[in-house]
Amino acid sequence: MSAAVLFPALLMSAWAHASTYQQGQLVVGQVEPGVQVWLNGQPLPVSNAGLYAFGLGRNAKANGVITTRRAGVDSEQALSVTKRRYPEQKINGLPAKKVTPDPEVGQRISADNQQIGAVRASQSQAEWLGSSWIMPVQGRISGVYGARRILNGVPKSPHNGVDIAAAAGTAIVAPIAGRVALVHEDMFYTGKTLMLDHGLGVTSVYAHMQSINVHFGQLVQQGEVLGTVGQTGRATGPHLHWGVTWQRTHVDPLLLVD
Ligand SMILES: [Zn+2]
Repeated sequence: MSAAVLFPALLMSAWAHASTYQQGQLVVGQVEPGVQVWLNGQPLPVSNAGLYAFGLGRNAKANGVITTRRAGVDSEQALSVTKRRYPEQKINGLPAKKVTPDPEVGQRISADNQQIGAVRASQSQAEWLGSSWIMPVQGRISGVYGARRILNGVPKSPHNGVDIAAAAGTAIVAPIAGRVALVHEDMFYTGKTLMLDHGLGVTSVYAHMQSINVHFGQLVQQGEVLGTVGQTGRATGPHLHWGVTWQRTHVDPLLLVD
């Protein structure tokens, strides 16, 4: 059989079993130990137990392919990604300097971003992602993932996490186990900021905190108190900004909890 004939046949069989996900979804899969996995040709880290993860961004393409290699034999699984619609969110009353920062704070902002980026580049092979997630704080959802944001009338980049409004001092707990990968007392936008590394390229961030009760490098279990809700950094009221990221791709935290 010529390759020209074989290829459409393979494609058809892959599509017949397409897995359907949605934009903003974090996907955790499992293969037998020793199997290698690629997403759209990019190799994914696989844990000893065979767990792998990838995130589909806010504007993820409609189609993708997962390739697995067992004993030198490749098989392909098509992904289909459902498109989402995102609301527009207008926030007024933010201090002008937090919306259009003075040039002098540019260095501080890029230092903050560098630290956050270094955590997101983590390649740890931990296996905490196999369990389900819980909400880090109970409260009203005041900002959703993906929303187009207009701050004090100025269009800004889309919201890359979820905002949960709660009284200042409300406990924030770890939604899933992880290792404390960043503790920062005062970032320009996110104020008192904590990040957890959950392994396989997945990290989470907790911003605007009033207090942080854990230390860098600490292993935290699901439900363990991380600190409290505050309004440090760029915030109009006490709330938790909770973000979950796979490598540099932001995913929707609310899709992770029941
Ligand atoms: Zn937010």
